[in-house]
Amino acid sequence: MNTQRTTQEWQALDAAHHIHPFSDMGALNRAGSRVIVRGEGVYLWDSEGHQIMDGMAGLWCVNVGYGRKELADAAARQMQELAYYNTFFKTTHPAVIELSRLLAEVTPPGFEHFFFTNSGSEGNDTIIRMVRRYWDIIGQPERKVIISRHNAYHGSTVGAASLGGMDYMHSQGGLPIPDIEHIDQPYWYAEGGDLSPEAFGLKVARQLEEKILAVGPERVAAFIGEPFQGAGGVIFPPDSYWPEIQRICRQYGILLVADEVIGGFGRTGHWFASQHFGIEPDLMTIAKGMTSGYIPMGGVAISRRVADPLINEGGDFNHGLTYSGHPVAAAVAIRNIGILREEGIVERVMNDTGPYFQRCLKEALADNPLIGEVAGTGLVAGMQLTRNKATRELFPNRGEVGLLCRDFCFANNLIMRATGERMLLSPPLVISRSEIDELVSRAQHCITLTARKLGMV
Ligand SMILES: *Cc1c(COP(=O)(O)O)cnc(C)c1O
Repeated sequence: MNTQRTTQEWQALDAAHHIHPFSDMGALNRAGSRVIVRGEGVYLWDSEGHQIMDGMAGLWCVNVGYGRKELADAAARQMQELAYYNTFFKTTHPAVIELSRLLAEVTPPGFEHFFFTNSGSEGNDTIIRMVRRYWDIIGQPERKVIISRHNAYHGSTVGAASLGGMDYMHSQGGLPIPDIEHIDQPYWYAEGGDLSPEAFGLKVARQLEEKILAVGPERVAAFIGEPFQGAGGVIFPPDSYWPEIQRICRQYGILLVADEVIGGFGRTGHWFASQHFGIEPDLMTIAKGMTSGYIPMGGVAISRRVADPLINEGGDFNHGLTYSGHPVAAAVAIRNIGILREEGIVERVMNDTGPYFQRCLKEALADNPLIGEVAGTGLVAGMQLTRNKATRELFPNRGEVGLLCRDFCFANNLIMRATGERMLLSPPLVISRSEIDELVSRAQHCITLTARKLGMV
């Protein structure tokens, strides 16, 4: 590979041959993409030599930070020993066995079985098929409907995007597929009106019961939700929300699915975000932090309730991917989980860096008129942009102010994401206290520049 091109050459070739995900390619090609060439710890470098602080851990995934030689070594060793073999036809291999055993240790009690994919989207597609297969085996094949939420993100394949609640995705490609229903999201700041957060949390949770009754309880298979919404804006539900959702799922016997693709592997200071919210899902989608993004891998964690009939009564489950349980991905995941454990990274997020980050960020933005709330726990935070703190008024052109702020971040070598009217941070879990100081002060600076541009300060 030629690594010696100029930035202009890279950009011209990128524009000529590469279609980016979720991008307006015409506009991007005119502006030119930023070319990232190297990463170390919480920093990236672009082809112009700028050092950039990555406040997003890539796309919520580089939990152990960039440049970990142990992960490269694990991949190289596995490639030389057994680069590939499938697990379809009565075969298995040590890497996938060891990873499954390890996942049984780090997931909450009751999760003993794992199905592997290459991505979170495929994990959620697997969930759709597995949930429906479960009810077939149980003898209730009419249970097909899966209930999700507006503004949920569950991935970009046909199935996962259908589960998701992004209208701008549904409008392209004729989604959602049949038997997917959506209820409102627990986004109190924007949609809670005059209700208290607790009352609003109960209200939107009870929409699940209303939807179950409207669809017909005998037709509902499962409810799926991200414990906190990630791509939807790092929206943390009111405390009343999850207990009520879980209660309703149990009352109607439907499966509770937690999409842990962002929340899993330490983001909240727990191994899984379900533990932060005190919920006990039947299935969990996993990906991203499982390999810290060093190699693609996703999957489904399956509790006994689903695993037992699937294994003992179901016969063939007609689902699988060429690379399910890929040995190299499995080897990287094993080492990545090893690093998270050996270095006590998850505990540090819980007891030290997480609380420190939350405190510093809240203090830095408390008096900023543009920021209505800072939501989060551990090393993930969503900052609400508001036109009026007292009335929780949103900006009329949804998203524009976020993009303005993101432009300031771009110019100041900080990666902070904008979603609608929220700014998001989700740094690598290895971030140190002094790096948190830098992250918070850069974020504060960019938000202040935005507020100044809007004439608010
Ligand atoms: C990123 C994400 C997905 C999709 O994962 P991919 O690996 O991009 O397919 C699914 N669910 C959640 C919550 C995500 O954040």
